[in-house]
Amino acid sequence: MPFSSLGLSPALLRGLGDKAYPAPTPIQLAAIPAALQGRDVLGSAQTGSGKTVAFALPLLQQLESAAMERPRRLRALVLVPTRELSTQVGEEIRSLGAHLANVPKVSIVFGGVSINPQLLRLRGGTDVVVATPGRLLDLVAHNALDLSSVATLVLDEADRLLDLGFTEELTRILALLPARRQNLFFSATFAPAVQALAHQLLHDPVRITVQPEPLTQPDIQQRAIAVDAGRRTQLLRHLIQQNHWSRVLVFVATKHAAEIVADKLRKARIYAEPFHGELSQGKRTQVLADFKASRLKVVVATDMAARGLDIALLPVVVNYDLPRSALDYTHRIGRTGRAGEPGIALSFVSADSEAHFRLIEKRQHLKLALEQVEGFEPLQTLGTAAPTAGGIKGKRPSKKDRLRAAAAAAGS
Ligand code: AMP
Repeated sequence: MPFSSLGLSPALLRGLGDKAYPAPTPIQLAAIPAALQGRDVLGSAQTGSGKTVAFALPLLQQLESAAMERPRRLRALVLVPTRELSTQVGEEIRSLGAHLANVPKVSIVFGGVSINPQLLRLRGGTDVVVATPGRLLDLVAHNALDLSSVATLVLDEADRLLDLGFTEELTRILALLPARRQNLFFSATFAPAVQALAHQLLHDPVRITVQPEPLTQPDIQQRAIAVDAGRRTQLLRHLIQQNHWSRVLVFVATKHAAEIVADKLRKARIYAEPFHGELSQGKRTQVLADFKASRLKVVVATDMAARGLDIALLPVVVNYDLPRSALDYTHRIGRTGRAGEPGIALSFVSADSEAHFRLIEKRQHLKLALEQVEGFEPLQTLGTAAPTAGGIKGKRPSKKDRLRAAAAAAGS
């Protein structure tokens, strides 16, 4: 079913046309018509399912049909757990609303940076705010925002909002909102606290469940390469150059490792930057923007920093250090193969991490052959190394192997 049959306005269909999305995703198909009717929505959906568009379009259509007011009055509030997500969501709403007759003002606000520029930008009012909860309350305290005119409230990634300890802020924000409003509630998981919040917030919601894509989905090719721990950076460099990868997200275990690996890649003239929690917000925003604009080839990130990071067309994710848990593995590889784009998720496995890798595999119901790359064959023995499935040149014997075989043949 095309977007044009969902009841969206011509201006929004033009906004969608700019994006060239082929067709609505399941969550969009279910949520958009319900939200356009003014219903509350309870969506169970993962990042990557297209949920941002699912709430952005109805929210914009309601703005389009509301009378234009000056100064602008806040009509839609989107609460998100992280700074990165606020920027992604805000930009998506802006671009989808770009063809509206009265282009809405979408303000993105988050903590960890000076409040003054945000106060300035909110002068003259705003139509939409995408915010992390703490900073939203600060802005309300500064009288820069008035929540009493909000007609639509979106909670995006509600489970993470609660996980990150925003319960008290949420309660305070809810108390400032008008009782009559539409609520669009999205969460990947429904722990009891999330259910309680949904119950408190929603009136007779339309419930939508989109199954997380199975991990073995064909558009994420999962592979594992056996390599000695000390040669991982060299191997990474080799793979990036040999495969002409345009954009690679590399996961490491610590901030320190992120700095070191990025530094080594830069020395090899591969433009790489670290991405971790100790960087300033300005730096993080810059890295993300450069990565999105393809000015940057490699981002070397820790798990925490990469949560919520959504970059369309991310072809390769590399587990330089293995994730701590099977769940982190899912989060990491979910960064590639988004919304139907193909992706590769590579894990580096060395002698000391092999047992841990097998555990992750078991939890994921996976069985990957450990590939070897010519010139990077591990010297430390890996117990169950198996020949490669192809692609990376594992199956071919290395030069050394061939020499050894020739010597053996000559000696026999
Ligand atoms: P989300 O679930 O909002 O995090 O969406 C994840 C990704 O899906 C984003 O990169 C969007 O650009 C992309 N996306 C959203 N809707 C569609 C669609 N209908 N078709 C293809 N990609 C989409």
